[in-house]
Amino acid sequence: MIDLHSHTNESDGSCSPAQLIEEAVRAGVTVLGITDHDTFAGYDQAKALVENSSAPALSLVCGIELSTKLHGRSVHLLGYFLNGDAPADFRNWVLDLQTSRRERNVRLAARLQELGFDITLEEAEARGRGMTGRPHFAQIMVEKGYVANLRQAFDDYLDESAKGYVWRREPQFAEGVARIRETGGIASLAHPVRVNGDVAALMPELCEAGLNALEAYHSDHGPQETELYLGLARHYGLLATGGSDFHGIVKPEVKLGTGCDGNLKVPDNLLDQLRNGHAPR
Ligand code: AMP
Ligand code: FE
Ligand code: FE
Ligand code: ZN
Repeated sequence: MIDLHSHTNESDGSCSPAQLIEEAVRAGVTVLGITDHDTFAGYDQAKALVENSSAPALSLVCGIELSTKLHGRSVHLLGYFLNGDAPADFRNWVLDLQTSRRERNVRLAARLQELGFDITLEEAEARGRGMTGRPHFAQIMVEKGYVANLRQAFDDYLDESAKGYVWRREPQFAEGVARIRETGGIASLAHPVRVNGDVAALMPELCEAGLNALEAYHSDHGPQETELYLGLARHYGLLATGGSDFHGIVKPEVKLGTGCDGNLKVPDNLLDQLRNGHAPR
């Protein structure tokens, strides 16, 4: 079983790289893409663990999930580096993104304090380390009883439209795609169903930017959505990628490999298709 979208606790997942590997093996996943937000730290640790194990049952795919902007809206972009690791230039660029994130987090902590919450930057960074983000601030708000759940933390305070939101420098979608493609990587639009806007109408522009895949298979997609995105990929000659977007106990309904209640069915030949550059059939 193939799952090309998962997160470790180096970004906003709950599993350490070692736990993620264990979970994947237990779930029957044989090819696992690790796609942490804005960091390779989880993948790097997992790779060392797999390489040092005597009977590796799992092969890993090096990936990343970037937060980009498209017409001012946040769009997630997956990058896959099938020939082993992401190269140094790309990794250095990702380090720059982490700097902008840290700078934003300083202002976010100050903003939340201004709104009357007892939350410090240090508390958030203790959870998120290299990739501290809004989900970590949200977890603290839940634990301290300021909000009932993560949903409320975002809706009332952290979402782009909410009163605690602070701006962050994020790469434009086209820059993210170009950086990934420069390395020979595959740039795939993450969970297209979550894109704020009509993806079909945006396709010419996304293709113009150099996008070469759509994440057609995802735990948030019903059969009709999967068909829709496979159809768009076919029409525009793009590849298809897929995965659960596993985050561990942070999103307990999403299972590695199988998604929500078994709704994820990534074809067994997906990786071959990606390697050969074939569009889905
Ligand atoms: P950050 O990178 O710190 O800006 O946080 C972005 C992450 O927060 C995303 O990857 C999502 O996992 C999560 N997120 C963003 N907006 C929402 C929202 N409205 N509701 C729940 N989670 C969200
Ligand atoms: Fe996430
Ligand atoms: Fe995402
Ligand atoms: Zn994800």
